[in-house]
Amino acid sequence: MSTIHTNLRAVQQQIAHAAQLAGRMVNEIKLLAVSKTVSPETILEATRAGQIAFGENYVQEALDKMAKLHQISPDTTIEWHFIGPIQSNKTRLIAENFSWVHSVDRLSIAERLSKQRPTNLPPLNICVQVNISEEETKSGVPLGQVAKLVQQIATLPGLKLRGLMAIPEPADTLEQQRAPYQQMKQLREQLNEVGLALDTLSMGMTADLDAAILEGSTIVRVGTAIFGKRNYG
Ligand SMILES: *Cc1c(COP(=O)(O)O)cnc(C)c1O
Repeated sequence: MSTIHTNLRAVQQQIAHAAQLAGRMVNEIKLLAVSKTVSPETILEATRAGQIAFGENYVQEALDKMAKLHQISPDTTIEWHFIGPIQSNKTRLIAENFSWVHSVDRLSIAERLSKQRPTNLPPLNICVQVNISEEETKSGVPLGQVAKLVQQIATLPGLKLRGLMAIPEPADTLEQQRAPYQQMKQLREQLNEVGLALDTLSMGMTADLDAAILEGSTIVRVGTAIFGKRNYG
């Protein structure tokens, strides 16, 4: 087996183990392979090991890779997720080329994605990014503004509101890692109680996968554990 294949199996085992500890079904948790900085050839290798969903942070980098992959392997189908900060002049390319966007943090961006989603494609799956650690520098909606934004997005055509995403401040212990994810879980429950049907919590990366799954994550976004250390991003 290649390194990528071995790494993917190890991450899948870690997910299965955490799910078991949490008393959850492993098939409730989707593995998103975060492929920023990773070459198209390596992405292809991961698809050959069975990986389907890939996450990218930079629009141009992602489009270049999509084009290259189409060239070298036209039959490979990939589910592309956009997970990076969104500039308004990039929304059209995102709406046209991705299946999911995890990082929506304001209404104007959602409205543009809604208008620009081609009608021949299925609705664009949307998660609202929550600034759960309330960091000044981090993107994401402050906790107090999530409910309003989520309700507004739910009415927009061309979009399918799926849930919430967060990138908490790094923390060392499992307990510290769980705290913000527990808040996310409660937030989703509160929103569902008022009639929204959020089925997704996009949370957990290489360093805090277990904590996220223990708190109900349904999509874990993993880069380093699959592809190795990056030089940027
Ligand atoms: C880079 C990135 C990840 C993956 O991080 P790793 O620590 O390499 O697993 C997940 N989510 C987002 C939003 C990222 O930018």
